[in-house]
Amino acid sequence: MNRLERLIDEARREVEDNTFAAVRAWKEEEPGRACVGFFPVYVPAELIWAAGALPVAVWGGGDRIEVEMADARVQSFICSISRSTLELGLLGHLDFLDGMLFGSLCDVARNLSGVWARNFPDTFVDYLHYPQNLRSEAARGYYREDLERLGAALGGITGRTPGAAELAAAIDLYEEQRALLRRLAAVRTEEPWRLGLEEQQVLVRAAGRRDPRRHNEVLREVLELLPEREVRHKDGVRVVLEGSFCEQPALELLRTLDQAHCFVVASDLARGLCWFKEPLRRSDDPWSDLVEAYFVHAEGSVVRHFSPSERTERLLARVRDSRADGVFFCTAKFCEPAFYDFVLHKRALDAAGIPYLAVEFEEKMSSFESIRTQAETFAESILFFADEEATA
Ligand code: SF4
Repeated sequence: MNRLERLIDEARREVEDNTFAAVRAWKEEEPGRACVGFFPVYVPAELIWAAGALPVAVWGGGDRIEVEMADARVQSFICSISRSTLELGLLGHLDFLDGMLFGSLCDVARNLSGVWARNFPDTFVDYLHYPQNLRSEAARGYYREDLERLGAALGGITGRTPGAAELAAAIDLYEEQRALLRRLAAVRTEEPWRLGLEEQQVLVRAAGRRDPRRHNEVLREVLELLPEREVRHKDGVRVVLEGSFCEQPALELLRTLDQAHCFVVASDLARGLCWFKEPLRRSDDPWSDLVEAYFVHAEGSVVRHFSPSERTERLLARVRDSRADGVFFCTAKFCEPAFYDFVLHKRALDAAGIPYLAVEFEEKMSSFESIRTQAETFAESILFFADEEATA
């Protein structure tokens, strides 16, 4: 295994570890360290870091956990990420967390925050109401106050209420990380065979549970090593993956797409960690910079948008910008927001003549043969019609 493969493998092992051993080790390294978990899609990680705690993405247990106890507390017909996240908590795998944050994402996330507070009464639990009326100045003021309130509450846990200097430094650190993740995504867009989708995603997901200073170094090294990697150009079709902004598909499913030569060149995977499409506007007021991050720089999506048309326009722009041949909808089972979006997107893609394929997934999926066959057929049909058009 060469250095590049070792770095990716290390990230893979960490993100697949439901006991969070590496995060626990980080916490124990120095007295006084704290960890605050967050459920997708988004929390301002900078604020947690500025308060002296490590933000830890708690995004389900994947296929490596049996959901048993959680089913006695939430319905079995909701998305698997909410059930397996609760199971992780009930198993004690999250007992190192000093707090847990939820955002106003959907009814399921809202209810889960309440269930969490009742089941873990000794843990700090907070729920962020993200403004939906993005044109209102009052909403900006409200959001800022909520961030300041949360900062003070986090300071109550860690003993370090973040001030402007700490917050500005934390934004710098996460800006650096987002820029590195954007460069990684650009490698995928330009040469998808140079970096597997699964490889890219373990590096993204690791950003959700590693000390950002350490992970930034890893990302820098990966970006230095990638151009030297010996690879062969592979033929296939280029697709935008849409619908996985919250619950994440299994790594094996992502591998399957590459194997089917259905190359994902842009996606909404791990949305909250890669939400800002450009560097944030910076000023001498870091609180206002965080507000602008959400209002201006976060890409339109089902969880933050000006209007339904903004979401479809964003998808069409993403297809155009990434020179994609089609769209691969990869939607978590029972995820209502994703299915609402699908209806809108489907109409826009039909009108634009852009081919698409829709599949559903859940964390406990063990066989991906059906998805492989569908993806291969989708890729072949796109190539077939492209040939037809070329010879017409
Ligand atoms: S997967 Fe969908 S339904 Fe489940 S918590 Fe996320 S957004 Fe809500």
